[in-house]
Amino acid sequence: MITKDVDLIADSLKNGEIVGMPTETVYGLAASIYNETAIEHIFAKKNRPLTNPLIVHVSSMEDARQLVQEFPSKAELLASHFWPGPLTLILPKSNLVNDVVTANNKSVAIRVPNHKTTLNLLGKLKFPLAAPSANPYNRISPTSAEHVESYFPDINILDGGECQAGLESTILSFEENEVVLLRHGAIPIESIEDLIGSRVLNRTSGGAKVNAPGMNKKHYAPLCELILTYEPLFMLSAVKNKKIGILWFKKVQIDSPQVFVNKVLAPGGSFEEASKNMYAYLHDLEKQDLDLIIVERLPDHGLGKTLNDRLIRASYK
Ligand code: AMP
Ligand code: MG
Repeated sequence: MITKDVDLIADSLKNGEIVGMPTETVYGLAASIYNETAIEHIFAKKNRPLTNPLIVHVSSMEDARQLVQEFPSKAELLASHFWPGPLTLILPKSNLVNDVVTANNKSVAIRVPNHKTTLNLLGKLKFPLAAPSANPYNRISPTSAEHVESYFPDINILDGGECQAGLESTILSFEENEVVLLRHGAIPIESIEDLIGSRVLNRTSGGAKVNAPGMNKKHYAPLCELILTYEPLFMLSAVKNKKIGILWFKKVQIDSPQVFVNKVLAPGGSFEEASKNMYAYLHDLEKQDLDLIIVERLPDHGLGKTLNDRLIRASYK
């Protein structure tokens, strides 16, 4: 059931249920970090391997401090600048955090979401919420309560409207004096480097200790084939007898009878607009019984990097 009643959702969580909850990135499937059975239920519901740790959501820096052993100075700087916001920090965990949440890692992933309704919900609870994205493993991430309901019709879902960022959080870890990027996300890496005044080590493809879903080669994928290309027109000329949808970046470059549906990610031309629309448009296209989705690849900087990262994983066969 979809509801705007924050108290009802708070009660569900207090009763040990799992719920759908909005954030500015994507919708999450949430439960108390202190309820091991509910956390296991999240993994089962998503069909997510128990080896893939969850992100813990708190309402403030003070609450975050309870869950970690220390905040390195660069983590402190990043949190004070970007929280509430789509930045997840991996920090050494305190004893309060259950091993099921962190998949037996000694570190915990933590962030303060920038969403009024979610912060209101967290304020009504005496426990933080573990929440991965509210989609079955490898499927398209949900950016509306309706997307969550279509995946999980039997849970209570808090309606917070469409996600404003529309992309998962950027994930950073800390090693000695280095800041390490584990996942591209809604905060572009250039903004992080500007703040800390140095380069970030990029560990987004392999090499990392944790086998995390955001790092899987195939992820965020629609059920039909998806091709990502700088040259959609060329790709179109090479394909015959297929029901095709094209997702363009700024404008439709050809309105061919061969194409069943055209969609434009960002008519205004910004990466932010493209980010907000990407998963929603992929959900729309997935519903149209296509054989093939062709997506125009974005320029590879700023949020374009994150969008390309998601689309490359969505296109992986
Ligand atoms: P999701 O919430 O589905 O977007 O995925 C959560 C992401 O958090 C995973 O993909 C991991 O990359 C990351 N993560 C969570 N906990 C840890 C941890 N302890 N160490 C490294 N990465 C983590
Ligand atoms: Mg996810």
